[in-house]
Amino acid sequence: MAVERTLSIIKPDAVAKNVVGQIISRFEKAGLSVVAAKMVQLSQSDAEGFYAEHSARPFFKDLVGFMTSGPVVVQVLEGEGAVLKNRELMGATNPKEADAGTIRADFAESIDANAVHGSDSTTSAAREIGYFFAETDLCPRG
Ligand code: GDP
Ligand code: MG
Repeated sequence: MAVERTLSIIKPDAVAKNVVGQIISRFEKAGLSVVAAKMVQLSQSDAEGFYAEHSARPFFKDLVGFMTSGPVVVQVLEGEGAVLKNRELMGATNPKEADAGTIRADFAESIDANAVHGSDSTTSAAREIGYFFAETDLCPRG
């Protein structure tokens, strides 16, 4: 399997719950490495641009409101099959449907406040990583 990079965001609900370390620990235990990270308070335009693909969806306003409600931790994860591996660790979008032992099953409250974001393809990952980081910000493990 190829070494990939994916963008992960620990959302405001999980930051407020003080489970940043527990979530990152799950990535590391699964063989993913953090190769860039920063804590940021997203502006409305940051969140709207990041989630532009959802701009026509009925939940868009709530999503942007939630993502700007407090600081987030944005990271680039690197490892074999990182995109799919991260999605498996996250669990389903709706925590009520997420498999036991996934991040969303264990830490998320609702479909709005669902603890984490993860890129859904290598194409999305490239765009999303570039949205937050310059190539020179990344510290690859090789
Ligand atoms: P993800 O890739 O699993 O995060 O899910 P999507 O890309 O489909 O949606 C992006 C984010 O929008 C999700 O993580 C949710 O926080 C939110 N979202 C998605 N679907 C719904 C919905 O039906 N209702 C609400 N309120 N929020 C949603
Ligand atoms: Mg998505």
